[in-house]
Amino acid sequence: MTGTHSGGSHGGGTGGHGRAHGHAQAGHGAHGARGHSRAIALFGGTFDPVHTGHITVAHAVQRRFHLDAVYFVPSSRPPHKPKQSLTPYIHRYAMVSLACADHANFIPSLAEAPDGATPHVNYTVDTVRRFKREHRDDHVYFVLGADQFLEIPTWHNYEQLLDSCDFIIASRPGFRLDALKLVIPPEKLSRVGSSDTNVIALIKSRVHLLSTVTSHVSSTEVRQRLERHQSVHGMVPAKVEEYILGQGLYR
Ligand code: ATP
Repeated sequence: MTGTHSGGSHGGGTGGHGRAHGHAQAGHGAHGARGHSRAIALFGGTFDPVHTGHITVAHAVQRRFHLDAVYFVPSSRPPHKPKQSLTPYIHRYAMVSLACADHANFIPSLAEAPDGATPHVNYTVDTVRRFKREHRDDHVYFVLGADQFLEIPTWHNYEQLLDSCDFIIASRPGFRLDALKLVIPPEKLSRVGSSDTNVIALIKSRVHLLSTVTSHVSSTEVRQRLERHQSVHGMVPAKVEEYILGQGLYR
């Protein structure tokens, strides 16, 4: 999510409680039925492909914030990666679904699925808003790695995005968490601040720093290794590895 344009699209989506969740799904009524507010997170990305770093982040976030669900939202065309040639959405979504299959609270989301002939860009700010509308009773977090948060000023309407929900920023090797505050416009910061050093208090939201994630895996490295016909065993979930090899992706 970057890009002069804005935001990312990565994600945002929502997922459906029946395990794949899509736009058409109205209501997400499960939380209402439970009669209490849930905590849920959107985890957006190109997921080209989804890898063990993503799963590590999702697990860490789920445990730390006691989340009821983590929605993985593959983007159809992220504004910040306009030139990168992406693997077709259908494959990236299939791999995300396989990666979620072994985890009861991980839900693949179709929220940013391509919707027709015209190429379109999804902006994170819109996806988060829509997601919040659809999950009115839930506390919604948006999850991203430190590398992506540092790019957030280039996202579409990023100031509104910062106001729209709480964020969880996962550490990523090579990126310093103490630099994150610098990308937040000073006027957005709460005067009161936070006594918790892992929380940046904004006037309308909070940014939580999750410093315990240390995965070095990236999709770029996975793709490069596959192009060189090297093994990616252990870098992607086993079912995803099987899918990649079976479909002959990234060759
Ligand atoms: P690429 O190498 O193609 O840029 P990526 O590995 O960064 O891809 P994305 O799908 O762009 O994967 O990532 C989705 C989200 O997950 C982003 O917010 C990114 O910062 C975060 N993320 C990806 N890998 C890690 C990791 N190893 N540790 C922490 N966060 C990660």
